[in-house]
Amino acid sequence: MTVDREIQKRVQTLHGLLNQWASEYYEKDQPTVQDSEYDRHYAELLELESLYPELVTEDSITQRVGGETSSELKKVTHTIPMLSLGNAFNQADLIRFDERVKKIVGHSLTYMVELKIDGLAINLRYVNGKLMQGSTRGDGTVGEDITTNLKTIKDIPHQLPEPLNLEVRGECYMSKQSFVTLNETREQDGENVFANPRNAAAGSLRQLNADVTAKRNLSTFIYTVAQPEVLGMATQEKALHRLDDLGFHTNHERKLCANISEVWDYICYFTDKRHDLPYEIDGIVIKVNDFKQQNEIGFTVKAPRWAIAYKFPAEEAETTIRSIEWTVGRTGVVTPTAVMDPVLLAGTTVSRASLHNTDLIQEKDIRLEDVVMIHKAGDIIPEVTRVLVEKRTATSEPYQMPSLCPTCQSALEKIESEVALRCMNPMCPAQIKEGLNHFVSRQAMNIDGLGPKLLEQMYERDLIRNVADLYRLTEEELLMLDKVKEKSANNILRAIEVSKENSVEKLIFGLGINHVGAKAAKIISAHFGNIDQIMAATKEELNEIETIGPIIADSLEKYFEKIETQQLIQSFKELNVNLTYLGVTSATLESVESPFKDKTVVLTGKLYDYTRTEAKEKIERLGGKVTGSVSQKTDIVVAGEEAGSKLAKAEKLGILVWNEKQMITAIENSSKVE
Ligand code: NAD
Repeated sequence: MTVDREIQKRVQTLHGLLNQWASEYYEKDQPTVQDSEYDRHYAELLELESLYPELVTEDSITQRVGGETSSELKKVTHTIPMLSLGNAFNQADLIRFDERVKKIVGHSLTYMVELKIDGLAINLRYVNGKLMQGSTRGDGTVGEDITTNLKTIKDIPHQLPEPLNLEVRGECYMSKQSFVTLNETREQDGENVFANPRNAAAGSLRQLNADVTAKRNLSTFIYTVAQPEVLGMATQEKALHRLDDLGFHTNHERKLCANISEVWDYICYFTDKRHDLPYEIDGIVIKVNDFKQQNEIGFTVKAPRWAIAYKFPAEEAETTIRSIEWTVGRTGVVTPTAVMDPVLLAGTTVSRASLHNTDLIQEKDIRLEDVVMIHKAGDIIPEVTRVLVEKRTATSEPYQMPSLCPTCQSALEKIESEVALRCMNPMCPAQIKEGLNHFVSRQAMNIDGLGPKLLEQMYERDLIRNVADLYRLTEEELLMLDKVKEKSANNILRAIEVSKENSVEKLIFGLGINHVGAKAAKIISAHFGNIDQIMAATKEELNEIETIGPIIADSLEKYFEKIETQQLIQSFKELNVNLTYLGVTSATLESVESPFKDKTVVLTGKLYDYTRTEAKEKIERLGGKVTGSVSQKTDIVVAGEEAGSKLAKAEKLGILVWNEKQMITAIENSSKVE
C-alpha cells in the first residue's frame, strides 16, 4: 500500500522545517523558533514515521544527532559517540519508559534523576590526568575542537589528582545573571542579543577567539564518564561522587529514586522551583542507575534507551501589544519596549517586553494591536516570540520606526554594522542621566544613596550637567531636593567624598566608554598605572595588551581624543579625584608577603565584617585569586555563616578552610601594598 500523497508531503515539509531550525540552532546559535515549537514538529514527524515506517529515511533528523560542525574549527572524531536523549512530555510518557525498561531488566532497579541543564554538551579528554582535549558534540560522531576555549572556564580542572585516562561529558552553560548582563551590554553596544543562555553559551564557546570565551563567565556541570569502567564504579550515583572527588563540578541537585512515582514527585517539585535556580534548565533527565543494566538496555541510533529527558511544558502567554516605548540608553542606543496587556507568565505578571532593536521588529513584523505570544528568555526576560498573524485586523499596518530621539528630538541614525538606532547627540538629557546612573553604580564609583530619581532631580534642577559636577555638590543644594534631609545629605556627601579615593579603573568603567567593561577597565589601568598614561596611549599600544582587542582600543582612542573628555578629566584633577591605579601591579606584588599570595581562594557563606566585594578586592590586592567554585585548584575556602555545598566540597577535597575571623587576621597580618 502506498502512503497517501498528503502524508508524504507533510513529512517532506517537516524535514524541511526541522532541518532549517536545527541548522539555525546548532550551527548559527541563533534559533528563530521556540524549543517547544521545534519539539512539537519533531513529535509529529516521529509519529508519522512510526505509523509509516517506509517514510523513514537515513538522513531524517529522527535518525541522527542534531548539529553539524563549524567549518572554521578543527574537527575531533569522538572515540565513543555523543548521543542525544529521547523525550517525555508527561507522566504517561514516563510510565511507558519505565515499563519498557522493566521489560528488559526486570523490576529491581533505581533511577538517578538529574537536572537537564540548558547548555551545550562538551567532552573533556584527560591523558595521565592532564586535560588534553575539549570538544563539542557536533553530529555525535565528529565534534569541534574547542580545547583552548574550554581551558578558560574556571571550574574545569586542567590536572586531575590521579593519572587517569578518561573522557568526561557534561554541559557548559551560562548563568541567568551572566546572560542578562551580557545581553544588556550587547544591546547598549548596538549588537544582536542572544535568544537564551544556551545559545549565548554555544556562541561563546564555538569560536576562534578564546579571549571572548574567557570574558563570558561560563560554567560546567559534568554528568558522565564516557567509559564508566575506568572509574571502577557500578552506578551513575557512585560515578558522580567519584567525579566530584576528582575535582569536577557536578550538580548536587540530583536524587536517587526508587521508582517512577518518586521521579514524578521530583519533576513536580522542580517545575516551580526551577525559576529560583541561578541557571536555566529545560527538563529533568532520568537515568537507569546501574551501569550493568544500562548496558543490557542499550541504545537506539541516536539516544540511550536507558535514559529519557522529561521536557517542561513551554511557558508562554498570549497578550496584545498596545504601544511601543522608546528609551535612550547611556551610549545613545534607542531601545523599543512593547507595552502589553498584563498577563501572568512563569510566576509573575508581565506587561512590558524589550523588543531590543528595529531589526527585530521588522523581522517579526511586530505591529501595534498585534496579538502575540510571549515567554521569558533565560527564565527572566520577557520576550515576544511570535505574532499571531491570524488574529490581525484588516486595518493593521507595519510599524513606523521613529526618526527622532524621543528625548532630545535630534535625528536618529542607524550605524551600518549595528542593529540599533542611535541618538548621536552627546548632550541628550536621557544619555546624560543614564550615564550618571552608571557612574554611581556599584561596579563603577559605588556612590551610595544616589538613586535614579535623585539624579534625575539634580539634573532637572541644573545642579549637575556631567559626572564631574557630582563632586561640586554642596549640602545646601542637596537640601533643595525632594525627600533629602540633613542626615541623608551628609551621607551622600560623605559617599561622594569617599569615592574620590577609588582606584582609577572604577572611574574609567564609570565613564561608560563604548565596549569598555569593568574587566577591560581594570586591565588597562593595571597596565598603564594612571589616566595620563592611558590617555597618551595609542591604539596600537592598547591593542598590544593581551585581552584588549581592536574594538576596545579603537573606542578608547576615540573617547580620549575628544575635547570634552579632556575637559572632564581636567575637572576630576581639579576636584582631587584619584586618577591612579591603586591595585596591585606585577611589580608591587613581588614585595607582598601574604598567605593569599598566588593562592586561589573561594568565598562562601555570609560574611559580616566585609562585603564579598570588599573581601575579594583585599585578597586580590594581596596577590590572591578569588574564584566562584571549589575544585582541586582551590587553596583556601573562606566559609562564613551558613556556608553550604562549597564548604562540604572543600572538606571532602581536604582544602584548607578558614572562618571570617581567620581571613581578617590573615589580611591584617599581610604586608601592606602601597
Ligand atoms: P536534548 O537537548 O533534548 O537532550 C540531550 C542533551 O541533554 C545532551 O546532549 C546533553 O547535552 C544534555 N543534558 C543536559 N543535562 C544533562 C544531564 N544531566 N545528563 C545527560 N544529558 C544532559 O537533545 P538534543 O538532541 O541536543 O537537542 C534537541 C533539543 O534541542 C530539542 O528538543 C529542542 O528543545 C532543542 N532544539 C531547538 C531548536 C530550535 O530551533 N529552537 C532546534 C533544534 C533543537
